Amino acid sequence: MIFFSRIKNPLMMNYTIVVHGGAGTILKEEMTPELEAAYRQGLDAALGAGYAVLAQGGTAIDAVAAAVVSLEDDVLFNAGRGAVFTHTGSQEMDAAIMDGRDLSAGAVAGVHGVRNPILLANEVMRNSDHVLLSGEGAREFAVKQGLRLEPDEYFFSQFRYDQWRAICGSDQYALDHSAKAGDNLKRNGKMGTVGAVACDSNGNIAAATSTGGMTNKQYGRIGDTPLIGSGTYANNDTCAISCTGHGEPFIRSVVAYDVSCLIEYKGLNLQQAMDLVVHDKLVQRQGEGGMIGVDARGNHAMVFNTPGMYRGMHNSRQQKEIAIYT
Ligand code: ASP
Repeated sequence: MIFFSRIKNPLMMNYTIVVHGGAGTILKEEMTPELEAAYRQGLDAALGAGYAVLAQGGTAIDAVAAAVVSLEDDVLFNAGRGAVFTHTGSQEMDAAIMDGRDLSAGAVAGVHGVRNPILLANEVMRNSDHVLLSGEGAREFAVKQGLRLEPDEYFFSQFRYDQWRAICGSDQYALDHSAKAGDNLKRNGKMGTVGAVACDSNGNIAAATSTGGMTNKQYGRIGDTPLIGSGTYANNDTCAISCTGHGEPFIRSVVAYDVSCLIEYKGLNLQQAMDLVVHDKLVQRQGEGGMIGVDARGNHAMVFNTPGMYRGMHNSRQQKEIAIYT
């Protein structure tokens, strides 16, 4: 039998939840007080959902799922309800979840009509022999597992429909939070996507990420979010990471796993590893975006190379923070 060494939380008590709602060109001057309050409320609700699980002695994996469900149900964020539109006017969602205890993982790509893609990813992890299901097969699996489906109207948001209408005749695609009519949107913008990472009172960690992807993306395009190691990764020995950003550079750089490798092989701490990947490697590769992370000691970091990232954290030491801008 092989025994793996685990970093254990020595006091068996500190727990942490961290969430994000996307990164990008989020500028205070373009935000109304009402909208900012609504975003903060959405982040707070997600933190509350995840924290409640942890405070009751629940697991990190259940906490990240609860937090992401809360963000998927909030039309302000580009995941679940409120997902962006593809080039053909459909909505295709990606999601992934990973448990740092044993590296079990589940993911779905290009899913349509499933209310909570993160719960479907969770079902793939727990109740299938596979890691990643896509399209119709994933949807059929959702039906089989008794997950809730919703009609197109449920996912519709006028704001994202208008974003899409502004560029749907072109070959441009846009990162959600910056998609505005008239922008040069090819690679200039804000990212949507939601995610959560958590460390529970037993020192186990987990990550979950969910997204509608990028406005006007090609039909069938899959981003970094559901790719284990790119947009989502968790390993008790190193870190749990959830990313948001322009997916293609994140895929090419395998960013979430890169953070883990820097911790495992180079001995960097969480903050150092995330800083190196986001502020150095990704910047060199035109990879705009950010990530949130925790380690098994309950340390956390929230790092981005864009003007803003919707983000928040709450831990059992009664530290709590919700922020949007740099
Ligand atoms: N990373 C997501 C994707 O490329 C988009 C985002 O984070 O907003 O699909």
